[in-house]
Amino acid sequence: MTNNKTQRKGPVVFSDIESLSGLKKALELGSDKVVDIIKESKFRGRGGAGFPTGLKWGLAAAENEQEKYVVCNADEGEPGTFKDRVLLTEYPKLLFEGMIIAAFAIGAEKGYLYLRAEYKSFLAELENELAQMRKDNLLGNNILGKEGFNFDIEILLGAGAYICGEETALIESMEGNRGEPRNRPPFPVNTGFNGHPTIVNNVETFAAAVHIISKGAEWFKSIGTKDSTGSKLLSISGDCLKPGVYEVPFGTSIKEILKMVEAKDTKAVQVGGASGTCVPKKQFNRLIAYEDLSTGGSVIIFSNKRNMLEVAKNFLEFFEEESCGQCTPCREGLPVLLEAVDALERGQCSKEYLKDVVNLTETMQIAAKCGLGQSCPNAFVSIINNFKEEYSLAKINKKEKR
Ligand code: SF4
Repeated sequence: MTNNKTQRKGPVVFSDIESLSGLKKALELGSDKVVDIIKESKFRGRGGAGFPTGLKWGLAAAENEQEKYVVCNADEGEPGTFKDRVLLTEYPKLLFEGMIIAAFAIGAEKGYLYLRAEYKSFLAELENELAQMRKDNLLGNNILGKEGFNFDIEILLGAGAYICGEETALIESMEGNRGEPRNRPPFPVNTGFNGHPTIVNNVETFAAAVHIISKGAEWFKSIGTKDSTGSKLLSISGDCLKPGVYEVPFGTSIKEILKMVEAKDTKAVQVGGASGTCVPKKQFNRLIAYEDLSTGGSVIIFSNKRNMLEVAKNFLEFFEEESCGQCTPCREGLPVLLEAVDALERGQCSKEYLKDVVNLTETMQIAAKCGLGQSCPNAFVSIINNFKEEYSLAKINKKEKR
């Protein structure tokens, strides 16, 4: 068992809560009111994209279909992210309670927990929890005596593909297909698993939703900022003395985080994993918030000893390996970005060539089919823009193309 290293328990997900208080309240309020509270709280999905959860649940609830699904995306594979692991191992009942509330809200009878292959060791404990919940009538028919509310959860294992964290690739994988993102629209809330309305939320989202239903939208809105309500779990790693999992209110600055984790001589902070933003020292006043630095939870700290071109290369190699390869901007663009880093390292990249490559990243951000291809150049671009002192550009004869 890996030590979870929970360093700071914050005001929402890790705050005290009476067991099952969220579910009991949801059953009293009725499904429409549950969706209303989630909407009023301005709660946004904690997977990184930040889609409003109440809107997602409301759209699925409005679908006039008998068969609907609730899916928990536990494919926590972003480099530097390990906070869902804490919830899966220490708070599984809270997570499942969140899925039951979501099922009640949208009218689903079946839920799936899609667990990343690397977390297979958690499977037996999670199955035990589900078995106990069935015995306690928290799953099954007429849950907690609510006539007609039937719901159960099954766990499916991924096979180690990063792209299956993208919700439509995850659904493809659930259906037994190769894990490749789908064209959108249609969206999963309309046409998801096996063609039926499906909501996909991540582990932290379900866990936080229980607190919102139990304690109310106003309580939740009192934490964080106006546009980013509540808190965020962060997995903090890299060059600091206290790496681990921290829960912080939205609106916390990078500077505060560095103090909290006892980081020294920090040159840059990568927020949002490999596809996120590399924040240089002069921007350490920036905030963890959807309106500033949006993140699924990964924060990686780089000290002055680090070579930022190496960092960019490392992230790009990761994406080149994990790209599903089905669309051209991502499949062909990533090797070009890697070639550019290589040329920069050798001092053989001209200003003109670099400009072409940066133009290419803009095309990738617009034309790639899914979030991986759209966001994979982010770290490269922020490193190129913010760490110019770490490379020198080659001078070329004006007649040369490169
Ligand atoms: Fe696959 Fe990349 Fe296209 Fe996404 S952007 S569908 S990962 S090739």
